[in-house]
Amino acid sequence: MLLEEAAAEILRPGGALACALPGFEPRAGQLAMARRVARAIDLDERLLVEAGTGTGKTIAYLVPAILSGRRVVVSTGTRTLQDQIASVDLPRLQRVLPRPFSFAVMKGIGNYVCLRRFHDHRRQLDLAATAAPGTARVLAWAERSPTGDRAELDGVPEEAAIWRDITSSPETRLGKRCPFVADCFITAMRRRAAESQVLVVNHHLFFADLALRSRFPEAQVLPSYEAVIFDEAHQLEDIATEIFGVQASTLRLFALGRDVERAPTGPLGAGRVESVARRIEAGTHMLGQVLRGRLPRKSGESDDLRMPMPDDLWQGEVLTRYHELDTVLEEASVLLARLAEDDGSELSGPSPPAPAKAAVLTGLAQRAAILRTDLDEIVSSARRDSVRWLALSARNVTLRASPVDVAPLLRESFDRHAGPLVFTSATLSTAGAFTYMRERLGLADTAAEATFASPFRFDQQALLYIAEDLPDPTHEGFAAAAAQRALDLCRLSRGRALLLFTSFRNLRIAEEVFRAHDEFPLLVQGQRPRQALLDELRTRVGSVLLGTQSFWEGVDVPGEALSLVVIDRLPFAVPDDPLTASRIERIREDGGDPFGSYQIPRAALALKQGFGRLIRSRRDRGVVAVLDGRILRKSYGAALLASLPESCPRAFTLDEVRAFF
Ligand code: SF4
Repeated sequence: MLLEEAAAEILRPGGALACALPGFEPRAGQLAMARRVARAIDLDERLLVEAGTGTGKTIAYLVPAILSGRRVVVSTGTRTLQDQIASVDLPRLQRVLPRPFSFAVMKGIGNYVCLRRFHDHRRQLDLAATAAPGTARVLAWAERSPTGDRAELDGVPEEAAIWRDITSSPETRLGKRCPFVADCFITAMRRRAAESQVLVVNHHLFFADLALRSRFPEAQVLPSYEAVIFDEAHQLEDIATEIFGVQASTLRLFALGRDVERAPTGPLGAGRVESVARRIEAGTHMLGQVLRGRLPRKSGESDDLRMPMPDDLWQGEVLTRYHELDTVLEEASVLLARLAEDDGSELSGPSPPAPAKAAVLTGLAQRAAILRTDLDEIVSSARRDSVRWLALSARNVTLRASPVDVAPLLRESFDRHAGPLVFTSATLSTAGAFTYMRERLGLADTAAEATFASPFRFDQQALLYIAEDLPDPTHEGFAAAAAQRALDLCRLSRGRALLLFTSFRNLRIAEEVFRAHDEFPLLVQGQRPRQALLDELRTRVGSVLLGTQSFWEGVDVPGEALSLVVIDRLPFAVPDDPLTASRIERIREDGGDPFGSYQIPRAALALKQGFGRLIRSRRDRGVVAVLDGRILRKSYGAALLASLPESCPRAFTLDEVRAFF
């Protein structure tokens, strides 16, 4: 049987899934998408597939991918989706599909506990007899975890300090020389991956593999594969930009200093290593200070400030501090490498054994050398194809060099792959065309395209309210007026709302207005972890959640708990953001129209993502409110509106919203 027919047989009404899975509703869009993906896999095609919310796209691509019998990589934008596919969708299909298959999950090694670091850390805690709250829980979990993947443990935030001490990283891995290699979680994860038909990874890991292969053709992170399906493919450009760039941060330098300080040296090396560790920390501190001193700090805009690196930054005291740090990193790598080569006399002493100590020292020496090279590349490279920029937060200064345009790099990588490539998401096209995504991903005319509309009845389930009477968002009175309108809307919806902002400044103003009236339980980004906020929005019906960029996508709150989504401004990328500014400049230099070909489509996709938060099931009902009247007044507004569901009725007064609710 053709793959297309085999997939359709599984998904059709009365097919295997409908018979075996309680609650499974056959959907025409899902069936059609599965057929199209099956054809792409059969014909080794590249395919862009937009599947509206509710299509059931995960099952639509998994079924043909599994039935093809080929080794398939499924790459997701977020670890949340990766975990969902591995814990829900694939086990279900294993029970139902006539063809047995195996699957494995691979994440970046920073997600897994490193047994060597875990044992080192526990030994240090025993010596110190103190531990941060929550540490005992993590340590008890790590003892019995089957995978060592920290996603298994609920309730310990990603940023908890304990993870820094016990998880692996490319720079701390010892590989075969490690005394724990036989039980190592990462070795086991790679073994499972090598033996599985379906491999679930994320875009970060996928591109890390590509970046490594492009530098060292023999090296690879992922086992070989025949087909790739990119889910949440609209995130590919941003993630590729991150991975193909270079970054060095004060946090990374401090972490090196801390690990060097704990290096397992013998008595002869201890003093020298301790001194070099302290100098790394002091040098990092000094460089961080002078960098902050040289850069303007806009207050209240954002917790993370991104700005282009001034051309004259690396002069005077900044340059002096950089040279000092460069010198100590070089000293550190030479000293640690020399101690590692020592015949063992300096390294003798209590466990771990000398060969393991030597391996730790070699790893640290390499880490210092890599950081030095990365810093050097950022400081000295001013290339046309890359943009150098800084990100400042209260705790960290990050220096980056990022490719301005990743399309050529992606094109080259995709061209090296002979098999099928499927790119899917709920948001790939703008105003019905895939032009923008093709250009940004380097696909030009090499990919076919298909669209499967959402099965939701937007004509009955949703209302698009546009506040055409509010001041223009560039007007200084806008934020306060928009906050008041958002409050009026929440009164009509009885809370149950997600308020999406494009800036922290406007979020703070709205927070003040809502707190002054104190009518709804308020959940505010940054005050608790994202997942905790979403859980409360879901369970405490009537709450109002205020969030910026990271809440525009990936929020899935079906049911009445989310009945109103308010979008304060049209989500244009900030034009003075270093990456956006350099992309605009590049398009202009190449004779293009950056506003029409880059800024509008990007905003349209973000708006479509924001809109997509509202209706998550056939039973959902609610209102999306856009408080930025430029969507009606400006000529570009038509392109943005054309990216939203055509059948969704529009309203312009609060009375209409009241009537809807
Ligand atoms: S092999 Fe690497 S990741 Fe595994 S326990 Fe040893 S050092 Fe850690």
